[in-house]
Amino acid sequence: MASSSVFETKNTKPRGSSEPTLLRLPIFILSLAFSSQTETYRRRAQKRHLGDKMSWTRRGFIASTLAFSAKPSFAETTVVRTPGYPWVVTLPNAPSGVALTFDDGPHPDHTPRLLDILGNEGVKATFFLIGRSVAAYPQIARQIVEQGHEVGNHTWNHPFLAEMPFASVLSEIDRTNRIIEDTTGKSPHVFRPPYGSFTGRQSARLAVERGMTTVFWSVDPHDWRRPGPDEVARRILQMARPGSIILTHDIHWGTVAAMPATIAGLRARNLATTLVSPTLA
Ligand SMILES: [Zn+2]
Repeated sequence: MASSSVFETKNTKPRGSSEPTLLRLPIFILSLAFSSQTETYRRRAQKRHLGDKMSWTRRGFIASTLAFSAKPSFAETTVVRTPGYPWVVTLPNAPSGVALTFDDGPHPDHTPRLLDILGNEGVKATFFLIGRSVAAYPQIARQIVEQGHEVGNHTWNHPFLAEMPFASVLSEIDRTNRIIEDTTGKSPHVFRPPYGSFTGRQSARLAVERGMTTVFWSVDPHDWRRPGPDEVARRILQMARPGSIILTHDIHWGTVAAMPATIAGLRARNLATTLVSPTLA
């Protein structure tokens, strides 16, 4: 995909420079083209009943948001780097890989057990952590990073975000970024909205204002309904294909117990596991 550098703005001019104003039109046009590209993912998501199809109105709205965010305040930062993908539903650059993602941790019992399994299997995964749980179990959050996994942001309180004012959304995300960074030394580049409750506009603004990509999913085994480990593994393997982002939760025993069979099944189908961020470059 050729869009990774579209929104990368380098500006070392003093505050008040007129250059960002001149950037607005090209950013607007490129954003229109860009969001039509990401709509491919939206369409795939819709087929699986995971999201709504993006209209031209919404595309224009996102393009306007991005364009008008390029205001002189950008000049305060030496380099403003916004990800090429404001949001993803599948992995953009992983032709044969899938991403295992675990939400809602760290959990005091299940997460360490999962880490043992992943360690034994030599598999790396992406953990979307809840800020208040990182505060409660900092040692486990550190273990996740020490063992080479990626940490993402899953808000502090796990609210529905789509209807919230953006300032409140940012405060949930910032507070969580801070504790993850203070605890693990890593600052998250990826964000997963609880319940998938996040608008295209919110994703676009998060990309512009925090440089984070919103990560949805394309495989959902509904493990939170606790159907049992065998069924969780069966559902994942039935749906997984190259580029899948697999949504699970490491706060359920059955999900963790499903991982050895899941990993073996993915291997049998030559689906390598990958972290999310490296596929966004
Ligand atoms: Zn969650």
